[in-house]
Amino acid sequence: MEEFTGGDVYQKEFNPRSYLEYYKFGEGTLGDETTIFYLECLCKTFALGSMKGDTLIDIGSGPTIYQLISACEAFETIIASDYLDENLQETRKWLKNEPGAFDWSPVVKYVCELEGNRDKWAEKEAKLRRSIKQVLKCNVHLGNPMAPLSLPQVDCVLSSECLEAACSDHESYRTAVKNISSLLKPGGHLVLCGVLETTFYMVGSRKFSSLFLTEKFLREALTANGFTIVQFKTQPRVDKVMLDMCDFTALYFIVACKGTKA
Ligand code: SAH
Repeated sequence: MEEFTGGDVYQKEFNPRSYLEYYKFGEGTLGDETTIFYLECLCKTFALGSMKGDTLIDIGSGPTIYQLISACEAFETIIASDYLDENLQETRKWLKNEPGAFDWSPVVKYVCELEGNRDKWAEKEAKLRRSIKQVLKCNVHLGNPMAPLSLPQVDCVLSSECLEAACSDHESYRTAVKNISSLLKPGGHLVLCGVLETTFYMVGSRKFSSLFLTEKFLREALTANGFTIVQFKTQPRVDKVMLDMCDFTALYFIVACKGTKA
């Protein structure tokens, strides 16, 4: 088992620019495989599906916005959040279209293609920038992850590859699910995506631990917290070469409803 890399290690050693290397889309990085899976699932759920609402909170956004591209078709207000100020700064840089901001256009173009709107990628970027109204600090280990702010409960909470990074064991994972669930209205949806059976991932030359998750454990953790699982999709890993970057065996995408589904 890898040594757990907690919040203090993230503060000191997580480099947003190194992490963004995974998102140089179409360049054959390990990120291509994971990103394509997430984007397809997110597109089906938010752009082509029936889920709609006023507000979505993305928990542990990191320096990335790919997870929000289809979400801005379904929600008027998006709140991005992360534990690290450096990640929030990176996102703000993109929102303001500042020089040196990460170029998400290959990913945005891909999503436009999935949504059947290939030529409108610049408008899509503008729409996403308008939808992300706040970029806030969060901590999934707090009973109110957005403390000291107290936000009204929202229609959807999304989180990609965050809880497995933030939690050291199954108990803290269950508690983190409970904490982020407090941000959600009863009947609202929790959308989780990430990597299964992973022990580590690399950010530049720094190794970060990942909590080893199985489908069985995830189902239990959600139902124990009062969620009804609406969708649980997995996809086995295709790449067998870049195992030194991250040792995941499969990807997951979950939609769960807080309470009993009407
Ligand atoms: N959602 C992004 C980033 C995932 S990387 C993506 O899909 O690529 C894991 C993220 O979890 C990092 O941005 C890290 O800062 C964040 N994180 C780590 N500990 C956290 C905590 N206690 N609360 C909230 N976020 C945390």
